[in-house]
Amino acid sequence: MKIPGFLMDRPMNQQHYDIIIAGAGAAGLTLLYYLLKSRLHSQISVLLIDQSLQPDPSKTWCFWDHSSFDIPEIIYHSWNHLTVSALGESYSEDLLMNKYHCIRSIDYSGMILQEARKSESVTLLKAEIRGFASAGSGATVETSEGTFSAGMIFQSALKPSDFSTSKVDVSLLQHFVGWEIECREDLFDPNKAILMDFDIEQLNGVTFMYLLPFSERSALIEHTLFSAEILDQEQYEEAIRDYLSKRFHLTPGSYFIRRKEFGAIPMEDRVYSSFYCPNVMNLGIVGGLAKPTTGYTFKRIHNRCKSIVRHLEEGKMPEEKRESQYRFRVYDMMLLSILKNETKNSIQIFHDLFEKNSFDRILDFLDEKTTIPQELSIFSSLPYLPFFRSIYRMKHRIFTGA
Ligand SMILES: Cc1cc2nc3c(=O)[nH]c(=O)nc-3n(C[C@H](O)[C@H](O)[C@H](O)COP(=O)(O)OP(=O)(O)OC[C@H]3O[C@@H](n4cnc5c(N)ncnc54)[C@H](O)[C@@H]3O)c2cc1C
Repeated sequence: MKIPGFLMDRPMNQQHYDIIIAGAGAAGLTLLYYLLKSRLHSQISVLLIDQSLQPDPSKTWCFWDHSSFDIPEIIYHSWNHLTVSALGESYSEDLLMNKYHCIRSIDYSGMILQEARKSESVTLLKAEIRGFASAGSGATVETSEGTFSAGMIFQSALKPSDFSTSKVDVSLLQHFVGWEIECREDLFDPNKAILMDFDIEQLNGVTFMYLLPFSERSALIEHTLFSAEILDQEQYEEAIRDYLSKRFHLTPGSYFIRRKEFGAIPMEDRVYSSFYCPNVMNLGIVGGLAKPTTGYTFKRIHNRCKSIVRHLEEGKMPEEKRESQYRFRVYDMMLLSILKNETKNSIQIFHDLFEKNSFDRILDFLDEKTTIPQELSIFSSLPYLPFFRSIYRMKHRIFTGA
């Protein structure tokens, strides 16, 4: 097996590693997972740095797949029946190809941190990450515990160095508060998830409820918005209380809240750089891996990390890469522009999308796995005027390939 040159040409000492992973969230830990499973594992030294190296209880990560996920044992719950409601109508379907999965960050980070602690190749460092610089054929990271160097650094902690000057026309957030609740009586069907329920007040931008039942009595329920401004915590929570009351006749005394989560995921047409500086690769959210129109990031992180490790195993440098093909970037730009400027039409689009297309086809489309004829068929099922207007608004980006 060939070892990439940059992994070999440095002296080994306390401050130098073959690879530094800066940030031990979903991206950093996923990269570490694939490195630990790779043929390189016993031949490289890895430094993992984060401000916290404890299992993270704060998130649930959901994604769908055609049974291709590499760590099925870590999946907490899966659903094969989804519902979307909009404009007073509900569309429900059994998925035939995909399954919708949920992973708890506490399980995922706990498992990978435990493997890291057992490995002789990995050093864990609790420290604040302050900056990166390239240095010769490698790079350095400056932390509260000193400066460390490596042949290659993968970072998911700091925004890219050119963040403030990168091109962006639409900058929204997918922001939400979620409650994991436990009820006193059976209420939910653990096989059926509500992917999006738009039949709620639309006061601050495109807004929906998301409900993932884990058992007859427990579920995660999230009040989610696609908009530019984060709300006060109480506004999300009031909306959740209201939904539980109207939809499930639950009064606050009839359930208790096991856990809360908050998220704000960028939904932008920003062009993210692959590298912070030479030999420092951006990963995860700061690497632009969030799908601009959905916020789903977790599976993209897996795909990217697998590809990086494959390159390293083949003795190659990981390549600079745009996450999406150009036509999918254009679709994202159009839909982002509609989400920002046309709330009512956005909901009509979601309604028509799920009314007229199979859920499996839509999920594959969102995964950017569809063919052009399939995409034309999807677009022909949607109102076309909002898309024409969005092309006009975004023409300087769409027609310049930016
Ligand atoms: C609550 C929530 C739910 C989500 N749900 C989904 C979902 O269902 N499906 C999906 O696909 N995506 C989801 N996402 C989006 C995305 O998958 C997650 O944000 C994911 O955690 C991104 O991984 P990351 O490694 O880029 O960032 P993070 O997981 O946030 O990791 C970054 C790491 O860097 C560390 N760090 C940051 N700054 C410093 C510093 N200066 N010094 C030291 N350490 C630092 C942090 O401690 C953290 O551990 C969700 C996001 C949130 C917030």
